[in-house]
Amino acid sequence: MIEKLREGFHGTLLLPGDAGYDEARSVFNGQIDHHPALIARCTGPTDVSAALAHAQRTGLDVGVRGGGHNYSGAAVPERGLVIDLSPLRTVTVDPFARRARCEAGATLADLDAATQEHGLAVTTGTISRTGVAGLTLGGGIGWLNRACGLSVDNLVSARVVLADGRQVRAAEDEHPDLWWALRGGGGNFGVVTEFEFALHPVGPIVHLGALFWEQDRAGAALRVARNVVNGLGRDAGAMVVALNAPPEPFVPEQHRFAPCVALLLVGLTSAEAHARLVAPAREALPPLFEFVTEIPYTALQQMLDASAPWGIHAYSKSLYLDDLTDEAIDVVAAHLPGKSSPMSLLPIFPLGGAYAEVTDDDTAFGGPRSARFAFNMDAVAADAATLAKDRDWVRGLWEALQPYASSASSYVNFMAEYEEDRVRAAYGPTKYARLAKIKAEYDPGNVFARNANIKPATSEPNRW
Ligand SMILES: Cc1cc2nc3c(=O)[nH]c(=O)nc-3n(C[C@H](O)[C@H](O)[C@H](O)COP(=O)(O)OP(=O)(O)OC[C@H]3O[C@@H](n4cnc5c(N)ncnc54)[C@H](O)[C@@H]3O)c2cc1C
Repeated sequence: MIEKLREGFHGTLLLPGDAGYDEARSVFNGQIDHHPALIARCTGPTDVSAALAHAQRTGLDVGVRGGGHNYSGAAVPERGLVIDLSPLRTVTVDPFARRARCEAGATLADLDAATQEHGLAVTTGTISRTGVAGLTLGGGIGWLNRACGLSVDNLVSARVVLADGRQVRAAEDEHPDLWWALRGGGGNFGVVTEFEFALHPVGPIVHLGALFWEQDRAGAALRVARNVVNGLGRDAGAMVVALNAPPEPFVPEQHRFAPCVALLLVGLTSAEAHARLVAPAREALPPLFEFVTEIPYTALQQMLDASAPWGIHAYSKSLYLDDLTDEAIDVVAAHLPGKSSPMSLLPIFPLGGAYAEVTDDDTAFGGPRSARFAFNMDAVAADAATLAKDRDWVRGLWEALQPYASSASSYVNFMAEYEEDRVRAAYGPTKYARLAKIKAEYDPGNVFARNANIKPATSEPNRW
């Protein structure tokens, strides 16, 4: 049946044993070793439609791959069909309209490079090899979420191939229900081939302040970091992160790899304004060491890449906090010494600002807009045995923090496993029911099931 697909397919079809097959099936998470039956490297919407028709003829499970950076490996289903968008990486910027058209195989680095040529940017994530597609469809949290909102809050339109092969445009005035669902509902509703984003003036030079405190002072450091980020204006980005100090030149040799808590403050305006952001943290609790510098925005976006090398073993869970209370901080500080891998880390993203100006109902994004922090727990290890230990460490911390969580929600993009009850909880009953109705309209057969799956609504009431 592959011969029928070959007729008119413009991209590359890779079968097990073909040159390039192993590279094409590899994903970020080294835990995933899936062998798809077929990888269809698509050059445009017509190839995507043809691949979907092939899946229908053969009954193959469908996975959709943007950057291949998801923890779950859902993009490359075992013995299934991969609709691989990675050849589609063109980003076109209209600097006057402040818009970018971004093909769905682009990485964050591709999008940043194109937009920064014009001193513009849109919120993306913090590891530059991540795919724009998966990140955006789940939400998109990064350095700019306080200044510009989530990636989805800046989406203007999307070109989508539906499960039945139709090619449509979704925007506020075209397929508005699909448009709502795409902004947070993940890959459930179709294959997006192009995103259109609104852009904002950013950089090209921004300001970074990184203050590190040793883990023994984690409780005090987290309180200081909380107080500082709770007072930030919109024109600053931040991350509070428990991690081992990297082996970078700015880290004094004796502190390299030391377990630390860091406050990373990004100023989007002047060096003077940024110095005023950093000073209170330094004065409240003198750091073990610090690094304050101006930095190109594109370098900021790549600064953490070494913490997440391709092929590393990884697991992740997350929750939202209305505040980083003293009680929650005490739980975190008590858990920190329990990790086994020096690569495991806890990145905490301060929200607020533009993120909080969008209402909960405006998009399908499941996180509460009133939450002040998105708390991510990452087990990262060089081998599977160490990962198993830190997976337990992550699960233990996640359980211990439940009493302080804003809601039962967690960020779908930080899920390493898609347990049905967790996916439902990520959206909450009302949003999940609305998504399920839209799913029933656009993908009644649940062709796009390899993801944080929304089950198509039936006439039966949704189970809770
Ligand atoms: C180390 C690391 C750091 C991260 N940092 C951040 C961060 O700072 N901020 C943040 O918000 N997230 C972050 N993430 C999470 C990231 O957003 C998700 O893993 C996201 O799914 C990755 O997208 P991708 O396209 O690379 O992934 P893929 O594995 O290619 O795709 C993931 C899923 O997205 C869907 N999908 C992908 N492309 C399409 C498409 N074109 N059309 C329809 N559906 C599609 C599919 O369901 C697919 O299974 C991080 C993840 C990792 C591993």
